[in-house]
Amino acid sequence: MAKRGKTPAKTVDVADSYAVRLMQHLVVPTFVIDPKRRVVIWNRACERLTGVAASEVIGTTKHWQAFYESKRPCLADLVALDRPEQLPEYYSEYAARGHNGLGFSAENWCVMPRLGNQLYLAIDAGPIHDEAGNLIAVVETLRDLTGQKRAETALKELATKDGLTGLSNRRSFDEMLMSEWSRAQQTQRPMSLLFVDVDHFKLFNDQHGHQTGDECLRAVADVVSRHALRPLDLASRYGGEEFALILPDMSCDDACVIAEEIRRAVMALAIAHGAIGAGNHVTLSVGVASHIPGEADGGPDRLLGSADQALYAAKRLGRNRVICAERMLAEFAGLGRDGVQVPSSTARKSA
Ligand code: GH3
Ligand code: MG
Ligand code: MG
Repeated sequence: MAKRGKTPAKTVDVADSYAVRLMQHLVVPTFVIDPKRRVVIWNRACERLTGVAASEVIGTTKHWQAFYESKRPCLADLVALDRPEQLPEYYSEYAARGHNGLGFSAENWCVMPRLGNQLYLAIDAGPIHDEAGNLIAVVETLRDLTGQKRAETALKELATKDGLTGLSNRRSFDEMLMSEWSRAQQTQRPMSLLFVDVDHFKLFNDQHGHQTGDECLRAVADVVSRHALRPLDLASRYGGEEFALILPDMSCDDACVIAEEIRRAVMALAIAHGAIGAGNHVTLSVGVASHIPGEADGGPDRLLGSADQALYAAKRLGRNRVICAERMLAEFAGLGRDGVQVPSSTARKSA
């Protein structure tokens, strides 16, 4: 062991001891900082992981530069500073008192400026104390979980997305509908739902083939998803040639405007249909419903049912139109008619 340095700040002796050599060649990427948060060890595996040489960081507090573009603490710094309360600010996953009940554990996407590609790292940082209990160093070890994280994300995508259109699938729709319904119950804000169904799609397949049918569904899906503009709006493939759009915190009138825009946008694509019994171009029918959930309302079944009835009415009235469940009921009650009334602002000629 070499003698201690003369400067009092250099509390860790990192001469070429047997223990230090072991750490230098450890396969686990590891670095060590002293209580003043200067790097005292930066092992070979850490050099390989970060692309930063030990000579660039030893004796400095610039270890953050190996992982991030702008200055911020690394996990070892938070341990040295004893700042568990800052973990949520810097890491997506974290736990104070990581390994052996000491130190912190965290996971995070790191920018890795020297490598030029992001890595998802699992990080453990543990304090080392002398016999008197004084902190003499913090050891940070890193594990590259990028491959696992990417696989996990891809699996999640598979479980939540529809393979043909890339929209959310029915399962995510059901989950989102439940959670947004509960939120609307608390906020007492209206929640709107659109059912969008391609008109005469069976005839389209018969006329143009299933492959072209798939392309048509992708084009319609693209239009629907372009109208899910706010972060909590959810466009999904409800099934077959039917799409659903959840619009939390949105009034019925605003939802009808969006429905009409979707209908017009698909008309504007002018996808040739031309089967006998259908129009020249592909059109949509849309059912709109909007509810403020009451306390007694169990789940969103009534909202689903209303949107479905509105869609059914749109079909019966000749397709290629938007029908709103609320207006349909109001006009039915007000006019005393024995059928549904097409809201004048949204009614369109049938295909
Ligand atoms: P309507 O105007 O009343 O909605 O009539 P429709 O023909 O669109 O409705 P129907 O429910 O009778 O037929 C839906 C068709 O959608 C039948 C099915 O073959 C087709 N379909 C469902 N999923 C897909 C798909 O993934 N790709 C293609 N190409 N066709 C699909
Ligand atoms: Mg259809
Ligand atoms: Mg359908």
